[in-house]
Amino acid sequence: MIPYGRQDISQDDIDAVISTLTSDFLTQGPATPAFEATIVKHCGVTHAVAVNSATSALHIACMALGVGPGDLVWTSPITFVASANCALYCGADVDFVDIDDRSWNMCPQKLAAKLEQAKQAGRLPKVVIPVHLCGQSCDMAAIGALAKAYGFKVIEDASHAIGADYAGAPVGNCAHSDIAVFSFHPVKIITTAEGGLCTTNDAALARSMQLLRSHGITRESEEMTHAPDGPWYYQQVTLGYNYRMTDLQAALGLSQMSRLQQFVARRRDIAARYDKALRGHGLQLPDPIEESASSWHLYVIRVQPDIHLKIFEGLRKAEIGVNLHYIPVPSQPYYRDLGHDPALYPSAMNYYAQAISIPVYANMTNEDVDYVARELIRLLDAN
Ligand SMILES: *Cc1c(COP(=O)(O)O)cnc(C)c1O
Repeated sequence: MIPYGRQDISQDDIDAVISTLTSDFLTQGPATPAFEATIVKHCGVTHAVAVNSATSALHIACMALGVGPGDLVWTSPITFVASANCALYCGADVDFVDIDDRSWNMCPQKLAAKLEQAKQAGRLPKVVIPVHLCGQSCDMAAIGALAKAYGFKVIEDASHAIGADYAGAPVGNCAHSDIAVFSFHPVKIITTAEGGLCTTNDAALARSMQLLRSHGITRESEEMTHAPDGPWYYQQVTLGYNYRMTDLQAALGLSQMSRLQQFVARRRDIAARYDKALRGHGLQLPDPIEESASSWHLYVIRVQPDIHLKIFEGLRKAEIGVNLHYIPVPSQPYYRDLGHDPALYPSAMNYYAQAISIPVYANMTNEDVDYVARELIRLLDAN
């Protein structure tokens, strides 16, 4: 089976992890700050806070922005459930903004219209979480302008998009957002096995997220309510979690970061190869916005709804590990029970009836790319 995505682990990655394994620190040593510094440099941002998953990163990002009961958080219906669940963890309510039919990302025009309605109803969101689907940046200039106009904060769910560019600069620089979040799950662009990270240009937000990832505990006397009892003293100043990244994971991440450009370049080659092979076969292919250079975490095609299941099953039968990213979150039974109605997001539901993620990963061979394209065209011709 050709998987839809997989990690690329080199001997250098293995050596880096083993060297940490035999060092003094398995966690909370030098590797995590070094990994954070590498991301800061890559993104051109001032702060990075590494954690044990992007789900944790989204949670502490919401908390640092003060999301709580009575607040509203908006995200895209076409995303992994974690982009919405983070608001529920904080006791806030979630709502969705339908996608754009071309980019499949949150549509800025639909966002603007929904904001105007929300303003009249007196229920504006506190935070909006655009998701860079497949590694293609959302229209962040438009979303950032709306954030200023309506006074909400922005968390970019950039789980798919480390190594991507927007307006000639790296995704994660937070030029139009408060916080950006990356995932390092093995199917993503680089991996730490499990892992995630928040970037921000706001020192207070970064400090808040550092406290939240480690029990809300500080060892800095100026952050305490009274002078330390002694040299052993630490103080819990807020309710935090154990969301720390281990040094084993960070060592792997640091080693992987040295190949980020290579990984993204290979994914771009594969996407270009698919573009060329699949054009003219009645498929809707990815259609990136001009300002963005995707990291190609996913390559999604759209087929006509009446042949969707047949093509999906046919590809699986040909040992091609296709997938569907994503089931619209408001259509999940858990979200329906909260009162969400997926019919309010027709573009997302149309996408769901058509989308198939075909394999793309850094160590995929051209032979495998050509096999996937050939099988897909064969199935399209037969159906
Ligand atoms: C993978 C992913 C997440 C969750 O990442 P984890 O690191 O597995 O917690 C969140 N949002 C999106 C869009 C993702 O693809």
